[in-house]
Amino acid sequence: MALTLFNTLGRTLQPFEPLNAGKVGFYGCGPTVYNYAHIGNLRAYVLHDILVRTLRRAGFAVTHVMNITDVGHLSGDNDEGDDKMLKSAEERGKSVWEVAELYTQRFFQDTEQLNIQKPTVICKATEHIVDMIALIKRIEERGFTYQAGGNLYFDITKFTTYGELGRLRLEDQKAGARIGVDENKRNPQDFVLWFTKSKFENQAMVWDSPWGRGYPGWHIECSAMSIKYLGETFDIHAGGIDHVPIHHTNEIAQSEAATGKHPWVRYWIHNEFLVLDKGKMSKSAGDILTLQALMDAGYEPLDYRYFLLGAHYRSQVQFSYEALTGARNARKSLMDRIRERIKALEDRGSLHALQNQPLPPGFVERKAGAYLRAFNAALEDDLATPRGLAELWGILRDPAVSAEDALRGACNMDEVLGLNLVEEAEKQIPGVNHTESPQLRDAIEALIAERAMAKNVRDFAKADQIRQTLKEQGIILEDRSTETVWRRG
Ligand code: AMP
Ligand code: ZN
Repeated sequence: MALTLFNTLGRTLQPFEPLNAGKVGFYGCGPTVYNYAHIGNLRAYVLHDILVRTLRRAGFAVTHVMNITDVGHLSGDNDEGDDKMLKSAEERGKSVWEVAELYTQRFFQDTEQLNIQKPTVICKATEHIVDMIALIKRIEERGFTYQAGGNLYFDITKFTTYGELGRLRLEDQKAGARIGVDENKRNPQDFVLWFTKSKFENQAMVWDSPWGRGYPGWHIECSAMSIKYLGETFDIHAGGIDHVPIHHTNEIAQSEAATGKHPWVRYWIHNEFLVLDKGKMSKSAGDILTLQALMDAGYEPLDYRYFLLGAHYRSQVQFSYEALTGARNARKSLMDRIRERIKALEDRGSLHALQNQPLPPGFVERKAGAYLRAFNAALEDDLATPRGLAELWGILRDPAVSAEDALRGACNMDEVLGLNLVEEAEKQIPGVNHTESPQLRDAIEALIAERAMAKNVRDFAKADQIRQTLKEQGIILEDRSTETVWRRG
């Protein structure tokens, strides 16, 4: 396949070629878990999901690594301001560890509801302090650091290609640098690798290190963990556009300083921001919209996923409830189309088989094949999801495409889009789940609830027994990510 990606390094569309044939190493910056993820953050993770799904469908074995930032991130990316975790813990009357645990759990609830596949490796910063210290030592041995005021700093003047990713002009930045930046820094863009003389005396998360007891700067965690799991050079690194001038710029500097290898990362992918009509959303100012807020307002998480897919990841998107309502309506009509196609199937029972099977011979030559080719071309063209959605609509609307071909094509496209098309449509299909009497339906639902409770208390024997009892009555259960559905088998 000829996947083309827009590489921030060089600012051009580039054909994607992995370092090792058939394999892709991908690192996406994960959440800082001091608060709920806001819907802007979730845009970044939907993009990572689309990228991973596109790569996997093309046959690559993808190792997707995501970090959880539970230490070291100050409110300014440039070592300024409050410690985000500490401030949040103080405000909530909890320990930093409790805060981290709570919001990590909430984050994965959100991503699951958005049908975002779990990364291959999820790594917490606090569990990789040893790796960070080892990497910092390498940077120090190669002469890129200095100690001042108790902290260890990276000296950017020693790294000649500093700022290449963001095309930063250091002279301009120096001239415009704010007064009040850390006086220990020789250059305003120097950054902390290790804090010892913490400006936060009550910092709960501290570790011993060759530079004294303290904690790591924010950027080092991503370098240390990505190198640990993906190697000293790997394929793709992603994050929001805000990370270009500081976080990713500093990640490159410290990684390449430590290993002496260039480039550390071959393709840099950045998503544009989701903004509110009144401007930026700020997680630290608490002025945020969460996925739960959208659900409280009556939307489903997949409405939001659909909304995001309607824009290219490199365009800024303005969020509004009007636009989200538009997405919800569009998704509803899409489900109607799918339902019509399911009803038109000659053999309804073939639906599930049809979802998970390779495309039959002859499919690609038929009209449906043209839609699927155009869909693939759109996704391969720098993940153009809006064009991909248009092809999905096309295949479902076209009377010249048979119901079976339309459904096969749609299911195939859904491997990337992740809209759970058939499952969602089936929920409301008479004849699939709802032909039974209300009494029988209630009885089945009650058993499903009982089984869920049994699973909650890890009574798997009972859960299996309920499944078996229902099976004997011809009812098949299917466990989905957020619920269990049933059908006549
Ligand atoms: P954080 O949890 O603050 O470390 O951010 C998590 C991810 O969300 C990072 O990749 C950020 O670049 C990204 N991000 C932050 N705000 C937005 C936004 N409004 N729109 C899109 N991405 C964002
Ligand atoms: Zn990062």
